[in-house]
Amino acid sequence: MVIDLDKCTGCQACMVACWTENNQPLPDPTMHREGRVIEWMKVLPVQEGEYPAVRQRLLPIPCQHCEDPPCTAVCPVFATYKNPEGLVAQIYPRCIGCRYCVNACPYTCKFFNWSAPQWPGQMAAMHNPDVSVRPRGVTEKCSFCHHRLQQAKERAAREGRPLREGDYVPACMQACPAQAIRFGDLEDPKSAVSAERHNPRRFLLQEELGTKPKVTYLSEA
Ligand code: SF4
Repeated sequence: MVIDLDKCTGCQACMVACWTENNQPLPDPTMHREGRVIEWMKVLPVQEGEYPAVRQRLLPIPCQHCEDPPCTAVCPVFATYKNPEGLVAQIYPRCIGCRYCVNACPYTCKFFNWSAPQWPGQMAAMHNPDVSVRPRGVTEKCSFCHHRLQQAKERAAREGRPLREGDYVPACMQACPAQAIRFGDLEDPKSAVSAERHNPRRFLLQEELGTKPKVTYLSEA
């Protein structure tokens, strides 16, 4: 994934799309007060510069799907692991809720279900049937909309062709009105996202930790 901060307006459409697509419970004031909001994609304010030349920018942060993820290394029951597609995945029925992985993630991208998820009124009827609803007591996270990848693979198989770039994009990218998010196969050296790894505007979040995040950020400053 590539997130171009010079295009991002901070509108948070990516967050809303992610909530809806992945059946995340809508946060209520109590969840906010207790710091228990579940946001697979979050948009965090970051302040840069010194007073009076201070500016604030907004940083969309999904799971970084690290090449060397610290979260998978600490899970005692292999409930979180790097899957064959290179995504950091989560097996909810296997999770014992110890929260080691939540603490190990330097990007705060893993979320524990402190309570059973709830939706107001008729919103529960709007659940995406392709995504499981996680129960209380397990940890959850961004999957890069893995269910969409499965659907794209099945579609390609039915049509007797290999998976092509653009067959599958996550909900956050689809919803972004500024086209600040791009998605593709980082292992394909010809893909657009691979090319952006050489963009002079490129940076990775906390690259010094050696986690090798798969999300590339672009920014002029
Ligand atoms: S909370 Fe679940 S996934 Fe995370 S380390 Fe514990 S058992 Fe593994």
